[in-house]
Amino acid sequence: MSEAKIALVTGANKGIGYEIARGLGRTGATVLVGARDAGRGTAAADKLRAEGISAVPVELDVTDEVSVSAAAALVERDYSRLDILVNNAGVLLERGQRPSGVPVGALRRTFATNVFAVVAVTNAMLPLVRRSAAGRIVNVSSGLGSLALTSDPDGPYAAFPLLAYNASKSALNAVTVAYANELRGTPVKVNAADPGYCATDLNGHSGPRTAEQGAVAAVRLATLPDDGPTAGFFSEDGAEPW
Ligand code: NAP
Repeated sequence: MSEAKIALVTGANKGIGYEIARGLGRTGATVLVGARDAGRGTAAADKLRAEGISAVPVELDVTDEVSVSAAAALVERDYSRLDILVNNAGVLLERGQRPSGVPVGALRRTFATNVFAVVAVTNAMLPLVRRSAAGRIVNVSSGLGSLALTSDPDGPYAAFPLLAYNASKSALNAVTVAYANELRGTPVKVNAADPGYCATDLNGHSGPRTAEQGAVAAVRLATLPDDGPTAGFFSEDGAEPW
């Protein structure tokens, strides 16, 4: 029997991240359940374990450098490698403002979690991912990060003019490609996942899809075979336009 994969999912205590952890756990992976609140992380890991999943809570506030370093040190100490990193933690801070009405501070705070923290977590974990025989990094993006989709005035995405959120996910797509290009020629694949519009706390449970459905694309990218793609952007249905 092959050794269980070690997977870390950020923001895995609820919503799509929880379902990604669950989906990866069901493939036999040991899932490190990243959560900024230790109690919420432990509760989520307990729930996963009750389903027979190998789940371990890891306290991780992705915007806190000390917390990120401590999480990387824990993975190093207990597992010495990381096979799968899913950067899922994200925020949507604007509510109904037009783009021109979004305060710059909201933009900064959104980028702090959705972009800068992804870079910080990836950099902290990368030495461990490089030690995997088949490292996979998945950044949970959004169709709202697609310039092709949001610039179509007749498409459904133009109805969501979320300046900070959409720009952060476009930037995350660029970050995804940058890491994928750096890691070309190594076994590590880096891709962005679009969960689709799912009912979660992030959007006041307004989406038509479930969080479980939203997890499908990320789980697939996290478990890509060696001849799978890198530097791509995928929903459950296939490639998404940038
Ligand atoms: P959610 O239910 O609100 O979950 C967000 C998760 O991120 C929570 O676990 C939250 O932790 C965590 N988080 C936020 N800031 C964090 C930080 N600084 N450190 C660690 N964890 C942090 O939302 P969701 O819809 O599942 O969102 C998950 C991802 O999917 C996000 O990246 C989002 O942009 C993306 N997405 C969602 C949709 C959708 O329709 N829902 C569509 C496209 C993309 P707390 O519980 O502690 O707040």
